[in-house]
Amino acid sequence: MLYLQRKSSPDALTILTYHRSRRITVCAPIASVSALSPLTAELLSRLEGRLDRSAIVSADEAGPRYREDPDGKTGARPEVVLRPRTAGEVSDILRLCNEVGQRLVIQGGRTGLAGAARIQAGEAVLSLERMTAIEAPDREAATIIAEAGAPLQTVQDAADEAGLLFGVDIGARGTATVGGNVATNAGGMRVLRYGMYRAQVLGLEAVLADGSILTSLKGLAKDNSGYDLSQLFIGSEGTLGVVTRACLRLHPKPATEINAFCALASLDAAITLLALLRRKLGPLLSAYEVNFAPLYDAMIAGMEAPAPLPAGSPVYVLAEIQGSEPDRDGERFAAVLMQAVEDGVIDDVVVSQSPREFRALWAVREEANRFLFSTAGLIGVDVSIPLAKMATFLRETEAAIKAIDWGADIYVFGHLGDGNLHYQVRTVDPAAAYSGVYRGVAGAGGGVSAEHGIGLDKKEWLHLVRSDAEIAAMRRLKAAFDPNNILNAGRIFDLAPG
Ligand SMILES: Cc1cc2nc3c(=O)[nH]c(=O)nc-3n(C[C@H](O)[C@H](O)[C@H](O)COP(=O)(O)OP(=O)(O)OC[C@H]3O[C@@H](n4cnc5c(N)ncnc54)[C@H](O)[C@@H]3O)c2cc1C
Repeated sequence: MLYLQRKSSPDALTILTYHRSRRITVCAPIASVSALSPLTAELLSRLEGRLDRSAIVSADEAGPRYREDPDGKTGARPEVVLRPRTAGEVSDILRLCNEVGQRLVIQGGRTGLAGAARIQAGEAVLSLERMTAIEAPDREAATIIAEAGAPLQTVQDAADEAGLLFGVDIGARGTATVGGNVATNAGGMRVLRYGMYRAQVLGLEAVLADGSILTSLKGLAKDNSGYDLSQLFIGSEGTLGVVTRACLRLHPKPATEINAFCALASLDAAITLLALLRRKLGPLLSAYEVNFAPLYDAMIAGMEAPAPLPAGSPVYVLAEIQGSEPDRDGERFAAVLMQAVEDGVIDDVVVSQSPREFRALWAVREEANRFLFSTAGLIGVDVSIPLAKMATFLRETEAAIKAIDWGADIYVFGHLGDGNLHYQVRTVDPAAAYSGVYRGVAGAGGGVSAEHGIGLDKKEWLHLVRSDAEIAAMRRLKAAFDPNNILNAGRIFDLAPG
């Protein structure tokens, strides 16, 4: 039985023949396609005629593309890669996978750092990479409908062209997708002002494991007609269903964007400045990023552009305002910063005076990612800490790590306005460092993931911050939505306790 054909393009498929032995072999052209498992062969047989030619890619043709994590970890060889183009095709795939028991891992842009999209043995990949359409924004309603595989940046650009703004921005904007953003409840730089991804979602279209399609794309600001099912998929890391489209909230585009880069003597000073800016500027304050010593000093050494402030301060902060009154916004911001300097809260500050300088200060913030991604041997986590406990957390966690490895390097930065820290360690004992950080987080009443989710890599720590009752409720939800455990199995938690 013939069900896949190679086109002449590199994107194309291999002709596979289904033999009685239930093994798939290449018919033509001759290429090294390995045998498929009977399960996958059965699935492909049932999918015959339902998907277009480019929708099915063999593991050999896929090469390393779907297996590599951004942090260098490698997933298993996929059984097959499925690349649907419509929610109907996703539905067919899920229904048939559910019938034959084929497990799937859902992939967007594969930027997540918790291993949630990493392929496990026996899994086929469901990639949303061909579902990238976005509709023209509805200017009056200030909404946009985007397919799950659309990169975040295309949503931002479409909003911008319509004179609007999409409220979420992250460093991985060019690669991370709408579906992945929903599934991880992405936050980013401006959570202070616009909230997490959850706050942007007015409704979703999602496909359940049995193939049923739930569509809630009316864009209603208020709809209390029964459960808001869309909310369940946000932050569920692909364990409850496949998001295929999202109706997203847009915001007025700011007329003013100004940022300031400040050197401060301590975390206490940074928290005092945050409170002052909030009190005096209210919703004008849109971002508040922090960078602790010695990260700033280390990263500016390799920076091409000149550093905005000299090295040597314990804490650096990037504060941003977005406003609608160009005549007043800058003055208000400058007045509060001046007061903070006079009160001894800020030691040194530069304020952007042009869009070029504004972008240059943000580039310093993004330099932290570049520096850390290019530094070998670092382990890194994204955690959430209540502001009131942050100083204790930093002090005690550093002491715990240094007690095990005195020479460990520790680099910390993050979204201070949201209590979200990136904690990176270079140490001879990574396992002890993970344990030290996560136990410190739990002791501070924080969360072991502020951004990337739990995935495979953090599930052994989930119990530190979620009660048995909470995890049991999550398991019941998973079992109700995906009783055969075909979607992202083993992510966040294992279905059976222990
Ligand atoms: C440089 C960098 C900076 C970042 N900065 C921030 C930040 O500031 N704030 C923040 O919150 N996060 C941040 N992140 C994390 C980022 O939010 C996530 O990596 C991203 O949202 C995941 O999108 P993705 O398309 O790459 O998904 P993937 O990595 O492919 O998948 C992530 C999870 O989503 C699931 N998934 C993907 N698509 C779907 C779908 N259509 N339906 C159901 N499940 C799906 C996957 O199965 C997996 O569980 C950053 C990441 C990087 C690499």
